[in-house]
Amino acid sequence: MSTPDPIIQGWCPGALRPMMSGDGLVVRVRAVCGQLDAAQMAAIAVLSDRFGNGILDVTQRANLQIRGVTPDGHPELIEALRDLGVIDADVSIETKRNIAITPFGGDAPRVLARELTAALPDFPELPGKFGFAIDTGPQAVLGDVSADIRVEFSSNNQLILRADGCETAAVTTRETVIADMIALAEWFARHGVENGRGRMHKLLARAPDILPDQFRGEAQPRAQYAIPAAGSAEGGTLIACAYGQITSGDLRMLSMLVPGVIMTPWRAFFVPGQAVTLPIESDGLIADPSDARLRIAACPGAPKCPQALGKTRVLADRIAPHMSADQSLHITGCTKGCAAAGRYDVTLTATTAGFDLHHDINTSPLAQLTPAQIAADPQFIFQGPSK
Ligand code: SF4
Repeated sequence: MSTPDPIIQGWCPGALRPMMSGDGLVVRVRAVCGQLDAAQMAAIAVLSDRFGNGILDVTQRANLQIRGVTPDGHPELIEALRDLGVIDADVSIETKRNIAITPFGGDAPRVLARELTAALPDFPELPGKFGFAIDTGPQAVLGDVSADIRVEFSSNNQLILRADGCETAAVTTRETVIADMIALAEWFARHGVENGRGRMHKLLARAPDILPDQFRGEAQPRAQYAIPAAGSAEGGTLIACAYGQITSGDLRMLSMLVPGVIMTPWRAFFVPGQAVTLPIESDGLIADPSDARLRIAACPGAPKCPQALGKTRVLADRIAPHMSADQSLHITGCTKGCAAAGRYDVTLTATTAGFDLHHDINTSPLAQLTPAQIAADPQFIFQGPSK
């Protein structure tokens, strides 16, 4: 098996078709129904060290991404991941298996996700970013997670199917929900796809009346519930990762602490049914929702990435204790910005002379600072030169 070309924009990267990043190939591991047992976690940690750079992204699509993989090592890595049961039959199924699942509510949402996964060959070809959300836990929690077809409960506890971007939904049943999803996907494939691209909410924003009554319905979805970023939640523990990434060492350590995890779209692992006490050595794992590192994105930087011009993580660790609860930060080892996942109050970009300070990444830097200057007055970067 040869390694395909780097992914083009408009596609979500996968394992079979990885994305090229500055530190090598990014190989996305889509846990089946969001679940990884301890043996799988330990094995993925070993593979990350062997084929990657020992750093894994914990993504907003509830996946793990092995970073720093060389094209030569990719085929062997895929075979090892296949043995772990986390590789799809082909690229088409891998692309379609874009399913966000509530981590809460026990087995029921995962049983439904398993049925949806089994039915994916019956779905039409869909755009690479097209996705599904199964938000049928005790609370509605996936409203902010990207998806095109949503299975939810209504405000009066009926099972509903909602086209993303439509405020109301059609009532469905447990027996018919998969067939109803296929019907909605087929409708979208006929009306919403252009040059292989398209999203449901964009189609409905362009043409609000185009959705047939059979899919529009009149049911009202539940109000969204605010989930903590880390710590105790819904009868279990959310364990987040500093800077949205986990080292192979921390992943291995976590595999020894818990029997398994459910991946979440909040860049955190959910451990159902047990309180987890993190050992002091695991300083990259976070169970305290007030930890400022939850609001920092920092790529691996030097020396992990050969393209890095600065030690991003060292600087992040220096700044974090001085941040207030409403401040967010992105520190990047070069202009590629691999770790960015949203908007940040401040971006620090490493250069050969230190770090460029941006409040708006699209304009010229406000200042050029050395790590020592930043460490001496961490709040300066948030207040800017006009302070
Ligand atoms: S330095 Fe950071 S942003 Fe640049 S390529 Fe490496 S990991 Fe990506």
